Amino acid sequence: MTAGGCGAAAVAGRGTVGAVRSVFSLLAVMLLASACTSSRATTSSSVVVSTPVSASSPGSQVPSVRSSSTPTRSSSGSQASGARSSTPVTSHAAAPGPLVLLNPGHNGQDAAHPEIINKPINAGYGRTKACETTGTSTDSGYPEHAFNWDVALRVRALLVAHGVRVLMTRPNDDGVGPCANTRAFLGNRPDVAAQISIHADGAASSGHGFHVCEDSHQPGGAAVAGESHQLTVALHDALLSGTGMTVSSYLGHDGYFPRDDLTGLNLATRPATFLEIGNMRNPGDSAIQTSSSGRQRIATAVAAGILHYLGR
Ligand code: ZN
Repeated sequence: MTAGGCGAAAVAGRGTVGAVRSVFSLLAVMLLASACTSSRATTSSSVVVSTPVSASSPGSQVPSVRSSSTPTRSSSGSQASGARSSTPVTSHAAAPGPLVLLNPGHNGQDAAHPEIINKPINAGYGRTKACETTGTSTDSGYPEHAFNWDVALRVRALLVAHGVRVLMTRPNDDGVGPCANTRAFLGNRPDVAAQISIHADGAASSGHGFHVCEDSHQPGGAAVAGESHQLTVALHDALLSGTGMTVSSYLGHDGYFPRDDLTGLNLATRPATFLEIGNMRNPGDSAIQTSSSGRQRIATAVAAGILHYLGR
């Protein structure tokens, strides 16, 4: 289920937030509600910015996976500054890359802290929802928050290697939240080119495939909505061609699912999309999700879609 996911769980689970199970060791399952977003109302410091790999380190695929508690500050490409004064300055080196927000849904300790994640927040359009939800898991117990986090790290590495600056909504997979609205606000900086929420669904096991959600209203105005749609299409096409998954057999149309009940999308004023990368309850999808090679394929597809959208 997607806790917060766009999936059936989110729909079916609406209003069930109060029933959060806090069995941490099982993490699994649940679902509750709607907000695919999460948040930690508390932790003010859960944002990590990765700067691009400098041109002087060709081939480096490994971005500095820092886990600092430093509040968001996009040090655009500052790493390279002052490196070698004798090196010719090229426009490529001088211009900071675009900034992208990756939002891996849920967090590893959400289930253990219902007192935090069940706090009501403004979910947009007059809705009130829980701060965060716990997410779903595969039948074998692989939790969605871990899947989302792992995929996000892989996507970040690929983007950074292409000169894209990446902002993460959480610094690790061991915390709580942050709340969905907090995550959305992090991505509403004017210099954010795109917000991408990463989730997997938890629906009936017979259903399979991915779907992408875009806001059915236009919270950022018509121009931003148009960009959000372009971003969504780019991710949809990349997931279809690169993951080995089909479009969803159980939700939306051709892998698209417009919604107005996802906090992260409702509050986004920058181009945003929300990915439900497969159904964790389906044997075929979960086989991809639980394998390292499968997650790398997924991440490669997500990164390709983002890069396509960015024109890089
Ligand atoms: Zn989710």
